[in-house]
Amino acid sequence: MVKHVSILIALLTAPAAFGDSWTVCVTDTSALLTPPVRGAATREFRSVMGGHGAGLAFDKCTKGRLRIHLLIKDEPPNGLEGVLGLARRKRDRIEPQLQVFYGSLVRYLGEPNNAEALGRAVARVAAHEAAHFLNQQPHHCERGLLQAMLSAYELLAAEPSPFHFEPQCAPDASEAQATATLANAAIP
Ligand SMILES: [Zn+2]
Repeated sequence: MVKHVSILIALLTAPAAFGDSWTVCVTDTSALLTPPVRGAATREFRSVMGGHGAGLAFDKCTKGRLRIHLLIKDEPPNGLEGVLGLARRKRDRIEPQLQVFYGSLVRYLGEPNNAEALGRAVARVAAHEAAHFLNQQPHHCERGLLQAMLSAYELLAAEPSPFHFEPQCAPDASEAQATATLANAAIP
């Protein structure tokens, strides 16, 4: 697995099916998310993605031919401590293989005892990673869903959602210099 920001590359062609209806098939084999957190995550993900037609499917994933796979894991791989989510990258393509690290996320957020807020945070990290794939965009943006660092406040905030999925944005000018430190950033 390659962390998708480890190499900055030129913009790639967006997936041909951009704009079609994607199903994000969630695998949570350790049942890290409680049903209320799943419900909140599903609602928030739909809200962040807006009209772009991507929705979370937790238990069965039979709808639609366009699928993104999202694995909910407790901790990131060795060497990526503190990372909240990843999108898999293979050569010059970002693949529809996403991961969210729930243990890292809960610690980053300060262990909120609130299913709605936790679900929102899970959805926003997942949407950030999904945006890397849907835009085929490895770099980050100065602001919005694809900014390199999402604060705990931004991840938890109730209304209105501070993030919306949008087409590609210009790279964050500071990222080229910050690549080394991004290895330890909250959201690669
Ligand atoms: Zn990212």
